[in-house]
Amino acid sequence: MTLPVRAAPDIDRSALMHTYPEPPRTFVRGRGTLLWDTEGNRYLDFLGGLAVVSLGHAHPVVAEAIAEQAATLVHVSNLFGNTVGPEVAATLDRLIGGGERAGGQVFFGNSGAEANECAIKLARRFAGPGRHVVLSATDSFHGRTLATLHATGQPAKHLPFAPMPTGFEHVPYDDLDVLDAAMDPTRVAAVLLEPIQGESGVLMPSSDYLAGVRELCNDRGILLMLDEVQTGLGRTGRWFAHHHTGVSPDVVTMAKALGNGFPIGACWARAEVAAAFGPGDHGSTFGGQPLAAAAARATLAVMEAIDAPALAAAAGSRLRAGLVRLPGVVSVRGAGLLLGAALDGDRAPAVVTAALDRGLVVNAPRPDTVRLAPPLTVSDDEIDEALAILGTALTAVGAGPARDAEAP
Ligand SMILES: *Cc1c(COP(=O)(O)O)cnc(C)c1O
Repeated sequence: MTLPVRAAPDIDRSALMHTYPEPPRTFVRGRGTLLWDTEGNRYLDFLGGLAVVSLGHAHPVVAEAIAEQAATLVHVSNLFGNTVGPEVAATLDRLIGGGERAGGQVFFGNSGAEANECAIKLARRFAGPGRHVVLSATDSFHGRTLATLHATGQPAKHLPFAPMPTGFEHVPYDDLDVLDAAMDPTRVAAVLLEPIQGESGVLMPSSDYLAGVRELCNDRGILLMLDEVQTGLGRTGRWFAHHHTGVSPDVVTMAKALGNGFPIGACWARAEVAAAFGPGDHGSTFGGQPLAAAAARATLAVMEAIDAPALAAAAGSRLRAGLVRLPGVVSVRGAGLLLGAALDGDRAPAVVTAALDRGLVVNAPRPDTVRLAPPLTVSDDEIDEALAILGTALTAVGAGPARDAEAP
């Protein structure tokens, strides 16, 4: 069932900036976990548009909510109220509170980077002049705007755009001693961390790391801000990844899955912190507009109705159990349906291509890791089919024990 290697037709991309490599496929249609390309080939989407399409492609309830809102009222600006945004904010506050309102407040933007920009500005406003430093982790990913790029702990990504905005310092992930030494309360406003580092290859900290960070933050009056842009909204098997830890953050940012693909981001903060912002301190032309909010309202309503976190936990167990048995997979990191399969060599990019040629979409966040983040609605049959394809792809690129070593 090998598909044509080069299925993309002649689409003139010359008017697009070359910020991405040449795409290996062009997709025209999706339904649930499935995608179809321009040639009519069918694929299992185990990347979910980078952990975005958590309810699957073209979800009928979300599609109808978008269509209905589009035909009613798309946008009015934040000079006026709308009925949908406040409702979504209250739902998010309740989900963060684990079922009861947490008592916090939400600012809406249009992306993960904007959610983090809001968090960074809020931390500076809350801490006051002079205490503006945000500590983040090496190998983190927080976005592509200048501030969130500097918060992103990957110096290679900073260099071409120097000088970076000041006020960002980096510490090794999962190292409480170095963090402790860096947390000077006269300068540091906040610590910004991913509960699981997604873009760096699904890297998990020790189970007591966040609790340790929380304690250090409490001791020094420094904010704990969690970037749940990738881990939030059910993907890890709980509504938020920090719910696995019992730690209560001061600020939580989210985006990717919030509109099931419709662009919307949100920054939640507990009330005392949120109160640092007054009128005029922050804003967004589009943020929280009726159309994006309607997409989020429908997405969250479906997620709650189907208990999306429980689905992610169950499907994640099945997927993980299958992955560890595949040739060349040495371990599996992550939680729920945010998984990184660590390989026996730097062959993840080759595996991704071999899988795509066989009808499976995954990606390689690092050379030795294949990331899987399918819709939370993925079926057992789809998981089994994806595992079979991935197994074939791994064998095709020579992963696993050397063949002659197996000979009797
Ligand atoms: C994707 C991601 C972002 C950036 O989100 P954009 O919508 O691309 O701006 C920020 N933080 C994390 C953890 C992410 O995974």
